[in-house]
Amino acid sequence: MAKSNKSYLQSIFNFFLKSYKISSVNKSTLQETPLSIFKAYQLFIYIIYLLFIFCVVIFILTAYGPLQNLLPQSAYFKKSELIELMVKVDSLESNLLQKSKYIFVLDKIINGEVVDSFIQTQNDSTIIFNDITLTPSKEDSLLRHFVENEELYNIPADYTAENADLEDFVFFKPADGMISSFFDMKEQHWGIDIVANTNTSVKATLDGVVIFSDWSVSSGHTIIIQHVDNIISVYMHNASLTKKSNDFVKSGEVIGIMGNSGESSSDPHLHFELWQNGTPIDPLEYLDF
Ligand SMILES: [Zn+2]
Repeated sequence: MAKSNKSYLQSIFNFFLKSYKISSVNKSTLQETPLSIFKAYQLFIYIIYLLFIFCVVIFILTAYGPLQNLLPQSAYFKKSELIELMVKVDSLESNLLQKSKYIFVLDKIINGEVVDSFIQTQNDSTIIFNDITLTPSKEDSLLRHFVENEELYNIPADYTAENADLEDFVFFKPADGMISSFFDMKEQHWGIDIVANTNTSVKATLDGVVIFSDWSVSSGHTIIIQHVDNIISVYMHNASLTKKSNDFVKSGEVIGIMGNSGESSSDPHLHFELWQNGTPIDPLEYLDF
């Protein structure tokens, strides 16, 4: 077996080393003219060399030449590129259309014509309006209920004081002066503004206990007095206060000096409020100026 293998290799080796001759023979004279003499391995190397040149040429033509278009991969890229371009053209077209409409309207305006709108609206026939139900949904009803309950604790704008027993009290004028702004529920002005000379004294309207005597950004120096029958009086924008929290004050007693303190005050005045059971009362119903 090893011997036959060896002789097989030997025969191949011999084949490659054999010399071959290409010659032309004249038919009439039978004279032979040798054209080329070569060995088999030389022919083999020559064929390999030719194949290599052929592969290189095919590669260059495919990678950079016209054969590229024949590849299926390249067709895919071409298609996506085309779609991208189509989208671009479409957006440019709509942009151009809008611009031309804008210029058209601008032209009209320059010529002095009246233009309502340049956006043309189209009826969308795909929406069927008959199918729309106008009855409130469960969520809507719940929201309405929630909002109505929230409003429950706000002071209604059409509120009118029903505090009959206030007639029994004799209210002392908190300050001498003129009324510059009246009690107005709609404007949420829960009291009256009294204007007078600066340094006019501010007095307690009834006997009571000071429950608040301090300064705040919007109201300035403010004093609040608790009276009997759940009545509360408020005095804002004072220049200074002469009573502290928990002080007992008598009706007509000086509690502060009129001023212009607090961000919500623009001129020297006293903002005076009267409350009973958590509802504001127009002081002018019980006070004369
Ligand atoms: Zn006021």
